Amino acid sequence: MNLLGRLRSSRAEDRFEAWLRRMHQERVRSGQTEPIGPCPDDTFLRGLARRSNTIPLSDLRIDHAANCPECMSRLLVLREQHRSQNRKLVYALVAAACLIVAAGLFAWSGYSTHRQQLLASAPPVPQTVDLWNAGTYRGEQPGELQSVVLPAVRVQLTITLPRFSAPGQYLVAVTRDQSGNGVIAEGLSPATAVLGQEKLSVSLDLRNAKAGAYFLSTTHEQDQAAYYYPLQIK
Ligand SMILES: [Zn+2]
Repeated sequence: MNLLGRLRSSRAEDRFEAWLRRMHQERVRSGQTEPIGPCPDDTFLRGLARRSNTIPLSDLRIDHAANCPECMSRLLVLREQHRSQNRKLVYALVAAACLIVAAGLFAWSGYSTHRQQLLASAPPVPQTVDLWNAGTYRGEQPGELQSVVLPAVRVQLTITLPRFSAPGQYLVAVTRDQSGNGVIAEGLSPATAVLGQEKLSVSLDLRNAKAGAYFLSTTHEQDQAAYYYPLQIK
């Protein structure tokens, strides 16, 4: 029986009690206070206390119980027992429901924390960018566009620098605009010659970057000239 069913049945029990009281009062008024017949057994009284709404009110034993102080006091004790059992059952059900919800929340938060830890500890995704033939923006000077696309994760970016690039330390940055404003991520890396091309590798954390248009910049530590390449983060 669900909670609503229990509420309904407890309302039915209240109606039954009111009926018993009324019946007893009528008998007292009419002078008929002697109970009719023998006392019913405990099983009947127990059933009456528990499922009073299923026992037909025409049952003569109910008539007896309404007028027998012994049966009535026994009935009230049994009813109280039944009610407290019901209450305990409802409390137990509510407690069980709370536990299930709490366990679910705990499991979910554990899973979510675990997932965040996994994401945080996940190795950077290797990405390569080949700027060998790339034109550049140098300051305000527009050049030939070379669009670069990177995912919004931690990336280990290997860059092949444009031809004629100098060896040495480079600052690589992802920025909002081509003036170096709104730095999303940056890293330092020395460029090393591999088969005549200057290459560098830098770790960039792009997890907080919203998808959109950015710029990838390389700045040589000595000449301090920044080169900007259009970048898409997806
Ligand atoms: Zn009796």
